[in-house]
Amino acid sequence: MIDYQGILNNIYQTVILEKDKGEIATYIPELANVDKNAFGIHLHLISGETFSVGDSEKKFSIQSISKVLSLALAMSKVGSDIWNRLDVEPSGNPFNHLSLLELEEGIPRNPLINSGAIVIADVLVSVLDNPKEDFLNFVRDLTGDSSIDYDLKVAYSEKITGYRNYAAANLLKSFNNLENEVDDVLDFYFHQCSLNMTCAQLTKAFFVFANKGKCLLEKTRLTKSQAKRISAIMLTCGFYDEAGEFAFEVGLPGKSGVGGGIVALLPNEFVISVWAPGLNERGNSKLGMQALEQFTTETNQSIF
Ligand code: GLN
Repeated sequence: MIDYQGILNNIYQTVILEKDKGEIATYIPELANVDKNAFGIHLHLISGETFSVGDSEKKFSIQSISKVLSLALAMSKVGSDIWNRLDVEPSGNPFNHLSLLELEEGIPRNPLINSGAIVIADVLVSVLDNPKEDFLNFVRDLTGDSSIDYDLKVAYSEKITGYRNYAAANLLKSFNNLENEVDDVLDFYFHQCSLNMTCAQLTKAFFVFANKGKCLLEKTRLTKSQAKRISAIMLTCGFYDEAGEFAFEVGLPGKSGVGGGIVALLPNEFVISVWAPGLNERGNSKLGMQALEQFTTETNQSIF
């Protein structure tokens, strides 16, 4: 039996001593004002046991982690048709890169970079009756937690500083890969990124991917094949131009966000979330990556 609590405590002791905690995202004030010393981990085993350390119950902006949840809802609604509008190849580029979009005539490399997530947002705006409300209810349903909500200040700040996302959406529109108006699609996208969640809530939300499509409350929300494919996309594309490094160091499918969160999972075994707001040069949580490397090394559990 692995001493999970002991390992989480060890990780905590190691990271609090770390002097270089990375740099906090500063493009909007709501992210810039977060405490750089915050650090939390939550681990949820598929068998039901949970373990945590540090700020695992503090809410933070999940940002790009939301792209996995919107992809899941889109796949559950429209199935494999979405792959006519998107690819599943790692980009090897930062999350907000535009050049590939032009080279590939409006087909984003994958659903976890911004341009791909904007196409997914377009799919959801087309198929949902009340897109923002229905997406929020999907996340609340996955976790069984109705306290989860958007941070409207973050959504507004994203909108007024979102020049690059407007550029991506306009480029997609010019290639006829957006059905709806740019403003409507981005309004949805900025809200999904503004979701505020704790590490504990994130592990619950991602349980569905580690548990063959059945969420925490045992409801089937995805087919086994969809859960498998979404995990594959996380492994190859979840960390932008650092996906290789994350697979190399940690060896789990996962997804990061500029709020400093990372969620990772081992299918049929566990889901783990880390929050440490300081980022490395590639926009991924510096201590979050280090903590997960230590976790898979000390538990000897990874997909490899
Ligand atoms: N809201 C951010 C953006 O669209 C999300 C970026 C991220 O978490 N990598 O630019």
